[in-house]
Amino acid sequence: MYISSNQLKPDIIIIGAGIIGLSIAYHILEADPKLSITILEKGNMLGLGSTGKGTGSIRYQFSSPLLRRLSLLSRDFFLNFESAFDTPIWYREKGCLMLAANEVLWNHLQLTTEQAVAECIPMKLLKQEELQKNFPYLQSGRFLGGTLCPWDAYADPYAVLAALFAAVRRKGAVVLFGQEATKIIINGDCIKGVETSQGTIWSPLIVNAAGPYAAQIAATVGIALPVQPFRRQVYVCTNPKDVPPANPLIMDLATGFYLHQEASGKTVLLGGTDKYTWPGFEEVVDKSLAEDFFTAAIEIIPSAINVKWLRTYTGICEQTPDFHPIIGKAPGLNGLFLANGLSGHGFMHAPAAGRIVADLILKGKIEQLDINLFHPDRFTEVCLPESYIF
Ligand SMILES: Cc1cc2nc3c(=O)[nH]c(=O)nc-3n(C[C@H](O)[C@H](O)[C@H](O)COP(=O)(O)OP(=O)(O)OC[C@H]3O[C@@H](n4cnc5c(N)ncnc54)[C@H](O)[C@@H]3O)c2cc1C
Repeated sequence: MYISSNQLKPDIIIIGAGIIGLSIAYHILEADPKLSITILEKGNMLGLGSTGKGTGSIRYQFSSPLLRRLSLLSRDFFLNFESAFDTPIWYREKGCLMLAANEVLWNHLQLTTEQAVAECIPMKLLKQEELQKNFPYLQSGRFLGGTLCPWDAYADPYAVLAALFAAVRRKGAVVLFGQEATKIIINGDCIKGVETSQGTIWSPLIVNAAGPYAAQIAATVGIALPVQPFRRQVYVCTNPKDVPPANPLIMDLATGFYLHQEASGKTVLLGGTDKYTWPGFEEVVDKSLAEDFFTAAIEIIPSAINVKWLRTYTGICEQTPDFHPIIGKAPGLNGLFLANGLSGHGFMHAPAAGRIVADLILKGKIEQLDINLFHPDRFTEVCLPESYIF
């Protein structure tokens, strides 16, 4: 493949062509089309990382005001995506039903609803009787209550990724597939470039958007990023017979179980009970988890006993200790930016992350929120983790 000198000395290098890397490239080039961007992607094609494995949920229901803020900042991007990019992404606002099986979680949901409504997010509390009336397929009496947010939505992550890929290439960005960044090169506290599996590329500005691999590349310049990879297992099954089509996404806060109905209404993606596993990059399906998983599923939706289990796949999710992302300038180095540890919310928060990093690079600041809250050094202090973990 011919590589021009512009590609070997671009204004900006982005490591990783997942949803985060491409969103950053898109937002930078929207604001300043003259900049040259080279994106390094170690995979041989698009979508082999976390983004291609995601189940595509977009939600506003978080216990953390900061995560809700990222969802709000991303909202217009998703709402306008199909017309702006002239591409279908199967965006539909089908809502998400969060369920509380004990007092602590029920109190949490009530507090979150109060806060979310004050932020103009249309989140609604459903008491036990309302739940039973509206969602009769749930195990009777198991849940004290739940919340529903009609803005919660679904979009196809691969369709969004592919549209962003096409858009950034049209805007002049170069995406080098099969090219792994192996080491960031510095001189003193300044960024100089990246050593890759196929040679060196020079640039004073680098963005680490390497998803689950972010800590590995950060370690090459002595930065210990608290971002760990976790395997997530997704079970593809036929729809439980009494769950109607166009049902909201269902999430049980106690077990992590979720049921995500696909557009056809005939199949569902189930998962979420494996949230307390060991970190690692292993992607092989662990069949031993299935028994516990289906036991939990049947306790929540009894008719799940009759679903046909079609297949299982896994993906790697990148997580920080407080389930909030790390976004901003890397500590102690000029020219290195981080957009990492999106913690299971990277698809829905990619528009906000892209815009924030673009603003930081181009304007040196952002106006929409306090960027210090996403700084990697926050882990040395007491921090409040997000509690809705899936
Ligand atoms: C099963 C599952 C379900 C999920 N469901 C949802 C959901 O419903 N909603 C939601 O918002 N989020 C969801 N997520 C999380 C979401 O998919 C991720 O947060 C998001 O995709 C992260 O995007 P990324 O660009 O950071 O990572 P990735 O998509 O992994 O992209 C990073 C890219 O960097 C490349 N790379 C890594 N290291 C290097 C290197 N050294 N050199 C060059 N390239 C490199 C990788 O090959 C990869 O392509 C889910 C995740 C999983 C696994």
